[in-house]
Amino acid sequence: MIPFKYVSASSVEEVVDALAASDPPRILAGGTTLVDLMKLNVEQPSRVMDITRLSELAGFDTSGSQELVFGALTRMSDVADDPVVRSRYPVLSESLWRAASQQLRNMATLGGNLLQRTRCAYFRDLQYPCNKRDPGVGCSAIGGVNRGHALLGASDTCIAVYPGDWGTALMVLDAVVDVQSVRGRRTLKISELHREPGQTPHLETNLAADELILRIRVPTTPLGKASTYLKVRDRESYAFAVTSAAVALEMDGNLVRAARIAVGGVATRPWRAHTAEQSLVGKLFTASTARKAGDLAFENARTFDQSLFRVQLGANTVAEALKIARERA
Ligand code: FAD
Ligand code: SF4
Repeated sequence: MIPFKYVSASSVEEVVDALAASDPPRILAGGTTLVDLMKLNVEQPSRVMDITRLSELAGFDTSGSQELVFGALTRMSDVADDPVVRSRYPVLSESLWRAASQQLRNMATLGGNLLQRTRCAYFRDLQYPCNKRDPGVGCSAIGGVNRGHALLGASDTCIAVYPGDWGTALMVLDAVVDVQSVRGRRTLKISELHREPGQTPHLETNLAADELILRIRVPTTPLGKASTYLKVRDRESYAFAVTSAAVALEMDGNLVRAARIAVGGVATRPWRAHTAEQSLVGKLFTASTARKAGDLAFENARTFDQSLFRVQLGANTVAEALKIARERA
């Protein structure tokens, strides 16, 4: 790790002013992504600004009739364990319970979770060429070890998976993210936050470099109750998704009134499966309609030899998640 300057911020204004300066610091929240990558020298900031003392970004409120509000500094473990979230929005609590480890969830924040970086092993090892780290040098995963790489949204410059669970769950509830810079505040839909790699894999989000995430808001919806986050891993805990599915249903008896499906661990960004959703709406829910929706979620999958098995596994994950959500309706 190279030497860096550490500053602890005492106000949002201080942070956004610093981010707009000519030598902006990197934001430090729980540090479980940033410090990890600094130790590997993948991230080499000369200045780090700790935002964990900003009480206005901490905590969350699930009592509102219109929306749930999660401050960017809310710890993953606090929301995973919240009784309202567990009972009315199980897709959210399960996405957090099934992420990382208890120790990490106690440190890691919801804002930082959204901005976590890929786990592509080549990205994390400076001896390998990587377009995301060093644009234009090539991608070691294409033609390399790519069992866990993206099936959806990849380009010829980068096939890295976005690994987060929380962002995938937020996709099915149409969450929004409030951000601030010296230019003022704005709100992005969660579906607008992350980018596909295209020809610029080093640009991972649509946030400007000087924008700070303030909070995440989730509109209240009856869809939350009949929802789930199902995650398939190489081991049962403390592992990233091989495939995952966030789903939410609104049922009228056995008729599907509305369906929301997002897939995780398989795409370059949190990925909403609109065609799969539409295939269910207005139909009776059966094992076969769930199965078809699972297949449709992966109809445009692009595979490499080592990742072929994840298409079938991903489709099965969606179908199983739909059955769990159906039982909760
Ligand atoms: P930090 O490391 O502090 O920050 C992450 C990034 O976000 C940095 O670039 C930072 O500058 C930026 N940032 C942070 N807050 C803000 C803000 N408010 N505004 C603007 N920028 C900001 N995640 C999963 O989803 N599922 C898993 O299974 C999983 N397993 C893991 C296993 C291990 C061993 C580890 C180390 C991590 C794992 N993670 C997993 C990732 C973990 O959840 C994230 O590292 C964590 O959520 C990031 O939050 P943080 O507060 O620590 O962020
Ligand atoms: Fe780098 Fe992306 Fe290729 Fe991984 S997949 S080596 S992150 S360019």
